[in-house]
Amino acid sequence: MWEIIFPRTIAAGEGALEHLKRIEGKRALIVTGKIVRKIGFVDKVANYLKEAGVEAEVFEVEPEPSVETIVKGGEFARNYGPSWIIGLGGGSNIDAAKVIWVLYERPDLEVASINPFIELGMRKKARLICIPTTSGSGSEATRATVITNPAEERKMELANKELVPDIAIIDPELPMTMPQKLVADTGLDALTHAIEAYVSPLRNDFSDALAIKAIQTIFKHLRRFYGNPEDKEAREKIHNAATMAGMAFTNSEVGIVHALGHVIGGVFHIPHGRAMAIILPYSIEYNAREAIETYADIARAIGIEAKTNSEAVEKLVEAIRDLERELGEPASLKETGISLDEFEKKLDDLVNKAMKSVVLPGNPRALNLDEARKLFTYIYERKKVDF
Ligand SMILES: [Zn+2]
Repeated sequence: MWEIIFPRTIAAGEGALEHLKRIEGKRALIVTGKIVRKIGFVDKVANYLKEAGVEAEVFEVEPEPSVETIVKGGEFARNYGPSWIIGLGGGSNIDAAKVIWVLYERPDLEVASINPFIELGMRKKARLICIPTTSGSGSEATRATVITNPAEERKMELANKELVPDIAIIDPELPMTMPQKLVADTGLDALTHAIEAYVSPLRNDFSDALAIKAIQTIFKHLRRFYGNPEDKEAREKIHNAATMAGMAFTNSEVGIVHALGHVIGGVFHIPHGRAMAIILPYSIEYNAREAIETYADIARAIGIEAKTNSEAVEKLVEAIRDLERELGEPASLKETGISLDEFEKKLDDLVNKAMKSVVLPGNPRALNLDEARKLFTYIYERKKVDF
């Protein structure tokens, strides 16, 4: 039995932000970041809310928000008493909004205790609207949230089905201001979500459909959007694909790229999407043994011709490396500027943390300590290893 969960409403396409004019309630708390505010998106959202008769307050979070900030946000929400929480911005703003919302509804809970197996009993005080201004995390359609614990150089992978937003607003005008580097990083994060969802043992017909469409769309349009943010069609397609990839993995699972990527992000402070981009091709080489047909399906879906499944998978890996090169992504950890000395010093820590990742069961091939060590070493400088 599959319990498929999506946001109740997805407002997408040109003018989608105007959906805010139709919501009902007294107060909304907008959780966002400094840059989003500076660009003017917060005012835009607040003005639409005003038309709906909803007053708004803003709580600002830093990029990759810490537990401390989130706890303050929960307190802020309890004092303000909103009937809507609005996550506005990139993935980390939206992730922060989700957890602030939990602490608002459930002040008895600690951030780290959010997991898929507890009943949160949300929506007694407020509901959640998510408005992405970047095209990648898919958080506006998922049950997942990642919060940073800076003291332990660790990212907490938290999830609960009650965290799937009530409303996701996918307005293609918002990602227009994304810097080019961010277009690459977040677009490749979305590609990773879709590929990992498609090869996961937890896949199903619903996640497959969304994943494969997202993969095709990203291969077709990401170069164009990267090259020209004014390209309206490409921008809208990528913005939609990112949400579809989120819908796919939240109803399947992500795997080893996220398991390793969260660790690399926490230890070396590499942005999430860039960590994903680096690891993605390596993950396919590692997983191919257990999922060759599914990866070959993906290859064929993006127009790769091959006589055998293994040839198709090799060409898929090549196609991803080509795309990433064109988008200016580093091809290994070494290329991000991490020295061998620094890498070796952190390797034990990386391996131990990766083995504890809650998303590993979503990967088609199991991982043990020895394999994790080899895989990290391979990702460091792409010197071939035997897994
Ligand atoms: Zn991701």
